[in-house]
Amino acid sequence: MLKLKTTLFALALASLAAVPCGSGAFAQSKPTVGIAMPTKSSARWIDDGNNIVKVLKERGYGTDLQYAEDDIPNQLSQVENMVTKGAKVLVIAAIDGTTLSDVLKQAKAKGITVIAYDRLIRDTPNVDYYATFDNFQVGVLQAQSLEQGLGLKEGKGPFNIELFGGSPDDNNAYFFYNGAMSVLKPYIDSGKLVVASGQMGMDKVATLRWDGATAQARMDNLLSAYYGKKRVDAVLSPYDGLSIGIISSLRGVGYGGADQPMPVVSGQDAEVPSIKAMLRGEQYSTIFKDTRDLARVTVDMVDAALNGKEVPVNDTKTYNNGVKVVPSYLLKPVVVYKSNWEKALIDSGYYKRSQFE
Ligand code: BGC
Repeated sequence: MLKLKTTLFALALASLAAVPCGSGAFAQSKPTVGIAMPTKSSARWIDDGNNIVKVLKERGYGTDLQYAEDDIPNQLSQVENMVTKGAKVLVIAAIDGTTLSDVLKQAKAKGITVIAYDRLIRDTPNVDYYATFDNFQVGVLQAQSLEQGLGLKEGKGPFNIELFGGSPDDNNAYFFYNGAMSVLKPYIDSGKLVVASGQMGMDKVATLRWDGATAQARMDNLLSAYYGKKRVDAVLSPYDGLSIGIISSLRGVGYGGADQPMPVVSGQDAEVPSIKAMLRGEQYSTIFKDTRDLARVTVDMVDAALNGKEVPVNDTKTYNNGVKVVPSYLLKPVVVYKSNWEKALIDSGYYKRSQFE
């Protein structure tokens, strides 16, 4: 009897050993995908990383997820390591979209598929696909929210506005700015919107590395140089992290009180602190980009590329990276206000209500 039990135990062990190893509940039976993310300083990128890893693991892939804390050489060496360690696909959200050409050349020589994630990788032929949101539309929605908050369509105005752009090394920043200006420019031309500082164009309004403190310092300067006697009525901000800096600068000179309401301020990424600022009446809007959908689209690209199937794309015109047009899949961004945040963010399961209590 004892012998039979021992034999059964040994058999059970042997069958366990035959299952390919993997982490978590999903055994890895497919190649490893290297995932290079820019920074953990913003919640959206943490969600992106987690979501991609989750979907890849569910489908049996190995994963190598790295964050570079917005340090360009660090990201470069992380990607080099992924190539050396034998990743079959690279999914990269670049810090600086122009600095990866050499390592991607090595990747291409090894037959690795390269997917630009959210941000376009520029100046190289060695990027195969691009998974992102409609970045021009993000800017359009941001500006339309200011238009709505000010009542411009109803003929109200003139109003004073200041403009902020994203990081000049991020291709998205130009799309956001251009999308926003497609809505704002006619009002500026007609005098319904006045940029009191005169600072317009990405060369004047960009914010290196999307840094909130840099935006706060610029807003401080704008307020003291141009708004001694005037009121600023709206601020175009392309990202929640910048909006937080801008709002705290505004609060510092008395905006947000009963006699001096906050200007209408936009944002992007629907990050928890900014939704809370919206509920307090400080930020007017943000843009929700469901990173679960972006992860799914990206993994569909990985699957198709590795299985020799047609890779899903829905745009083959918009994203010229300086060398070629990169076939892209564009998802739809959603504008979020105080009036629809619960539907967009809680009912969809993206956040838990307890995060806002
Ligand atoms: C992303 C935005 C994000 C910004 C700052 C951009 O490339 O598309 O969603 O707000 O980077 O992290």
